[in-house]
Amino acid sequence: MPYVQKIIDDLKKFNPAQVEFHQAATEVLVSLRPLLEKNPVYQKNKILERLTEPERQILFRVSWQDDAGDVQVTQGCRIQFNSAIGPYKGGLRLHPSVTTGIIKFLGFEQIFKNSLTGLAIGGAKGGARFDPKGKSDGEIMRFCQAFMTELFRHVGPTIDVPAGDIGVGGREIGYLYGQYKRLSASHDGVLTGKGLNYGGSLARTEATGYGSVYFAEEMMKERGESLEGKSCTVSGAGNVAIYTVEKLLQIGAKPITVSDSKGMIHHAKGIDLAALQQVKEVERASLSRYKELCPDAVYVPLSEYPKDGNAVWRVPCQAAFPSATQNELNAADAEALLKNGCTCVCEGANMPSTLEAVDLFLKAKIAFGPAKAANAGGVSTSQLEMSQNASMQQWTFEEVDAKLRGIMQGIFKNASETAREFGAPGNLVMGANIAGFRKVADTMLALGVY
Ligand code: NDP
Repeated sequence: MPYVQKIIDDLKKFNPAQVEFHQAATEVLVSLRPLLEKNPVYQKNKILERLTEPERQILFRVSWQDDAGDVQVTQGCRIQFNSAIGPYKGGLRLHPSVTTGIIKFLGFEQIFKNSLTGLAIGGAKGGARFDPKGKSDGEIMRFCQAFMTELFRHVGPTIDVPAGDIGVGGREIGYLYGQYKRLSASHDGVLTGKGLNYGGSLARTEATGYGSVYFAEEMMKERGESLEGKSCTVSGAGNVAIYTVEKLLQIGAKPITVSDSKGMIHHAKGIDLAALQQVKEVERASLSRYKELCPDAVYVPLSEYPKDGNAVWRVPCQAAFPSATQNELNAADAEALLKNGCTCVCEGANMPSTLEAVDLFLKAKIAFGPAKAANAGGVSTSQLEMSQNASMQQWTFEEVDAKLRGIMQGIFKNASETAREFGAPGNLVMGANIAGFRKVADTMLALGVY
C-alpha cells in the first residue's frame, strides 16, 4: 500500500537515527493495511500522519550532585504521544541506553496498549540517560528530585500519570512522588507503582509478570493446551521477569532461565524464586551471585553468548517469555526456538523480538503474544491504582488480581476476534494493532481535527 509506505519513508527521513521508533511504527502501520483498505476515512482524515507525531515532546535538563560533590548533567524527557481516549499514561525509564528514539518507540506502543486494555488512558513515556547501578541511595534520591523538579509542571492526575519502567522501581517512585508532593503541595496520586502506605495498589508490583502469564494461558487454552508442566525460558531478572517466574511456578510450569545485562542462569530443575529475589530485590547484585546460592545452576557470562544472538533462546523450551528489553530476540534466536520445539512466545518486555523474528513466529503459526497485548497488565493495574486513589479506597490483593486476570482475558479476546474479523485467525499482532488503533482513531475522528 503506497500510502503506508510513504508515511514510513517520511518517518525515517524526518526522524533520522530513531531506529527503534521506525521499527515500532513499521510493525503497526503495515499490520493496519486491511483496516485502511476497508475504511478510507482514516486515510482521508490523515489519522496515521497525526498518530505518528507526538502531541508534545518535553525535553529538559536534569542537574544533580553526586556523593563526591561533583555536578552531573543529563537530559530528561517526557513524550506525551496521544491523549485522545484519556490522560497520558506510561512509564519512566532510567538507563544509560536511553535516547529520544527509544522513548518515542515506547510512547508510540503505549497508545495502542493502553487502548487495548479497555480503560480510558492515553499513551506517553519518559526517562533519562542515567545509570542507577552503583549509585548510592542519596544519589538516586537527588537525581529523582532533580528530574521531578521540571517534570512536575507537565503532569497531574487527569493530565499525565507516569509509572516505572527499566531502572524505576518502588524506591525511585517514592523519591519522585515525594518531590512532586513537595512542589505541588498536593497528595493526588500523580504516579503509579507507589508504596502501599501512600496510595499504592496491592498486586501492582506483580502485575506485568502475572499478566503476561495470564495472557499466555489464554493463548494456550484456545489451542486446547496449557502451560502446566512446560519448560519455560524467561529473560531478564527485573520486575517483569521475577513475577513471570513466580506466576509460572504457581501454575505448575517450570521456568528454567533468567538473565541480566551481564549473563544468564540456566537452572534445569527450575528457578529458585527465593534465591532470585534475594539477589535482585535485596542485594541488587549480578546473577553470578545466584550461582553462589544455587551451585547446581549454570551461569553463562555475556562473553560466552553465541555471536549471532542471545544464549537464553538457545536453551530448549516449550514456551519463551522475553522480559528484559527491546530487540533481545533476533531471527537466529527465533529459528533456534522453533527448531527446539517452542510453541509459545509471550512478550513481557516491550518490542523484545525484532521484526524478522516476529515474521518467523507468525509464519510458524505458534502462539505469539505481542508486547502491547501481553504486557498490558502493568498499565492496567496502574489504572486500577488511579481508581483506588480517586475513590480513596484500597482493594485487596485478590480483588486487584481478579480484575487483572479479567482485563488480560478481555485483551486476548479482543485481539483474537479482531484477527479473525480481518481474515488472519491467530495473528495477534494484527489483531492487537487493529483493535488498539481503531478505538483511538475513531475517537480522534469524533473529537475533530487537532
Ligand atoms: P527492570 O529494570 O526491573 O529489569 C530489567 C531487566 O532486564 C534487568 O534484569 C536488566 O539487567 C535486564 N536488561 C535491561 N537492559 C538490558 C540489556 N540491554 N541487555 C540485557 N539485559 C538487560 O525493568 P522491568 O522488568 O520493569 O522492565 C523489563 C521490560 O518490560 C522493559 O522492556 C519494559 O519496558 C517492559 N515493561 C515493564 C513494565 C513494568 O510494569 N515494569 C510494564 C510493561 C512493560 P541488569 O539488572 O543487569 O541491568
